[in-house]
Amino acid sequence: MIELLWLLLPVAAASGWWAARRELARPNGVPVRGTEYFKGLNYLIDDKPDQAIEVFTRMAGVDRGTAEIHLALGNLFRRRGEVDRAIHIHSSLIARTNLTADQRHRAMLELGEDYLRAGLFDRAERLFQELVDQPDHRAIAISRLIYIFQQEKDWRQAIDYCDRLQQIGGEAKNKEAAHFCCELAEAASLRREDAEANQWLLNALQRDANCTRANLLRGRLAMRAGDHRVAIAAFKAVEQQDRGYFPEVIAPLSQCFSVLGLPDEWLSYLRTIQQQDHGGRLTDALAEWLLKQEGEDAAMEFLNRELQDYPTLLGLRRLVEIKLQRGVGAEYADLRALHSISTQMLNNAARYCCASCGFVVKSLHWCCPSCQEWNTIKPMPDLVIKTAA
Ligand SMILES: [Zn+2]
Repeated sequence: MIELLWLLLPVAAASGWWAARRELARPNGVPVRGTEYFKGLNYLIDDKPDQAIEVFTRMAGVDRGTAEIHLALGNLFRRRGEVDRAIHIHSSLIARTNLTADQRHRAMLELGEDYLRAGLFDRAERLFQELVDQPDHRAIAISRLIYIFQQEKDWRQAIDYCDRLQQIGGEAKNKEAAHFCCELAEAASLRREDAEANQWLLNALQRDANCTRANLLRGRLAMRAGDHRVAIAAFKAVEQQDRGYFPEVIAPLSQCFSVLGLPDEWLSYLRTIQQQDHGGRLTDALAEWLLKQEGEDAAMEFLNRELQDYPTLLGLRRLVEIKLQRGVGAEYADLRALHSISTQMLNNAARYCCASCGFVVKSLHWCCPSCQEWNTIKPMPDLVIKTAA
């Protein structure tokens, strides 16, 4: 809390100086407002925000000079979670007739933030739409509108406003806009309008050539259309764009190579990736291929060798599974228990992690539910890190 209050200090100091100066200039020379200001300041220093707010609220009269105090107080209330009070202060400020244009626009921005915090998106949207016409506040207003359209899943408007932001020289939001295109592509795909879906995916890749999600969706659409070679190209592009997403394409790629009757090409491709990636899902996929194509001994030999240097839980479970398939033995019950434990651990484990905020989750989200960043959640490698003895 105290760090938020420090934000108020410069404003309070300026207002206090102004208030004290004004009061000292009065004929009777009684510095009433100056005294109040120092009282409020002492409350802030003593970490007594409620008393400080009371004093500053009392000081914040109704003239133009105290608008800064109202703005600071409103922000403080919002940061404390008291959104109703923040809305009341900022609304009252806007209702005044003696504000400068800049003060009115800043109050509108703050009120818009209050409404966003309160979940009143329609009211926030109206305020930010008005501010789009004000050059000094246009960029921030457009950014906030993009946020609102995302929350409302109005992807077309979100894309339009990304373009507008770029046109006025604001922050480029190519990555976000590409994901908005992917959202529209997924919706079209659900309606079985694959041509439209593919158009949106091309649009996404034009905006962001590194959009892995677009290629992942292109691959799935091509598989559905029976065009497995196109699907393989799209899935391989995902690996080229960001190897971190490779675990997402292992299963569909395996299926495409299988349908085309190209097991050796699949093995060759996996071996190429394995030179730089020893994650659990890749190890598991290679073992699965060896088991099908070359038998138990080849798969076990590979796993025994791989797990020595790159231990993974998925690889271990695959090894136990193969041993279990060999039938009844003295260690059968132990292997069953080991398989059950490793399966439980894998089922309960978070498989994805946000590179931005560290949020962990069981399934892939393209927009992090915690920090709201796009494209920051990636598959975790399921690799047990070996430490020096
Ligand atoms: Zn995050």
